Amino acid sequence: MLLSDSHCHLDRIDLTPWGGDFSVFMQAAHNADLAWMLCVAIDLESYPAMCELVAPYPHVSVSVGVHPNEEPEQSPSPEKLHEQLLELGRDSRVVAIGETGLDYFRTEPGATWQVERFLTHIEVARQLQKPLIIHTREAREDTLSVLEDAGARDCCGVMHCFVEDWATAKRALNLGFYISFSGVLTYKSAAELREVAKQVPADRLLIETDSPYLAPVPQRGKPNIPLYVRHVAEQLAALRGWTLEETAERTLNNARTLFKLNPISSSTAG
Ligand SMILES: [Zn+2]
Repeated sequence: MLLSDSHCHLDRIDLTPWGGDFSVFMQAAHNADLAWMLCVAIDLESYPAMCELVAPYPHVSVSVGVHPNEEPEQSPSPEKLHEQLLELGRDSRVVAIGETGLDYFRTEPGATWQVERFLTHIEVARQLQKPLIIHTREAREDTLSVLEDAGARDCCGVMHCFVEDWATAKRALNLGFYISFSGVLTYKSAAELREVAKQVPADRLLIETDSPYLAPVPQRGKPNIPLYVRHVAEQLAALRGWTLEETAERTLNNARTLFKLNPISSSTAG
């Protein structure tokens, strides 16, 4: 079986259980059938170190972007950001632009700098023809309007860690976007979300951990790791009436399509 994690932050994982050794941790992921991971960037300062960390692993792809919660004072101007994203995004290892989007939980709704930053990412994704990784929190209406108005249909992307309603999923699907479910899908309180997960077309589903955040049940409360994507896959399998193998295969194939991945060598997972 080949599992995939379409959104994780490998440079933020606490490696203590693996003796502080990233290669030991990656071996554990390999042993747990993780065939592919997308290591997602949240700022440009930590980006070179993140790339260096995952460089020895051909089954790890990266994205480049500046998270909507990064303070504007610590981030480049829109012009500079555009230039840097365009340059970094050209690398073949970079399969997506983001994570980007809108977050009105931490920032005042409609903050100009946040919308501008989002628009810059959309423009770069369209120029490079690489998909967007979208973060949205308490901002679904504006997130979708910006995506629609800025022509994000041209590059498509994924609504990462999806926790919104079916109407929102449908609008994103209409733009050609994929919907990625995280450990939230396993939470007791997420009954409505599980109904959404039943309705998303099979060829638009992705799974992720967003590790080290949001560990799924039964690991909830612990630091999250990509290995726990299995729990997300199990939950999705139960909802869709698929086997775990079928769920893993479908979601990995969807990731291959969206992120235009080269065939993943079978030697990377058992
Ligand atoms: Zn993330």
